[in-house]
Amino acid sequence: MMLLEVSDLESFYGASQALFGVDLAVEEGQVVALMGRNGMGKTTTIRSICGLTPPRTGTIRFAGVAITSLKPHRIARRGIGLVPEGRRCFPNLTVEENLVAAARGGHWTRERIETLFPRLGERRGQYANSLSGGEQQMLAIGRALMTNPRLLILDEATEGLAPVIRQDIWASIRALKAEGQSILVVDKTMSELLPVADRCVVLEKGMTVWSGLPGDLNEDIRNRYLGV
Ligand code: ATP
Repeated sequence: MMLLEVSDLESFYGASQALFGVDLAVEEGQVVALMGRNGMGKTTTIRSICGLTPPRTGTIRFAGVAITSLKPHRIARRGIGLVPEGRRCFPNLTVEENLVAAARGGHWTRERIETLFPRLGERRGQYANSLSGGEQQMLAIGRALMTNPRLLILDEATEGLAPVIRQDIWASIRALKAEGQSILVVDKTMSELLPVADRCVVLEKGMTVWSGLPGDLNEDIRNRYLGV
């Protein structure tokens, strides 16, 4: 079943247009990689889906229901869990308090999060602002999962993290995928992102220019739209 269907999205920051026609879809249980060079509209697409930058035109359907321009908390309650760029946790709450504050009842509990991320169990009583960047990202993912989202969205899943920690994050994403969690993910490290993705969507200047299987992302498309 199609979980998320975004069509022909156009979004603005004030008078400045950032999205000019974004289309993307996430099937239940899929991991979809949202790709494109800096400034091509990945974060704005995510913000639009989550209601933080409501689109001016286009439609967003989630589990078959239009959610375009609902308030962010309503969209969250329908089952979209966001791990924003910059991993925002409550700095003056402990790891445990951060997790419990996000709890909504359901599959995900603090214990399950601590099984996914053993480090969070070890740091249970520490304040979030005393954690390393990688631990904060684990906590941010944990917080999003505590809402039992049908779709988890990660913006810059591993940005700024040390290689060992990045591998922990990718391992957790693989574990979630194995459980059937649907995920939309942005990350700059293509070589780490592609192996976990079922499908890719490529943005260029605020538009979807390509989507397909990771294996079909050929040299031509890489050079043209993802050029490094
Ligand atoms: P990055 O990888 O650098 O985060 P991105 O693909 O996520 O890039 P966006 O952040 O969505 O791209 O930016 C898309 C366009 O919108 C860019 O031209 C950017 O300059 C513009 N933009 C982003 N945020 C704002 C803002 N708050 N106000 C005005 N313009 C913005």
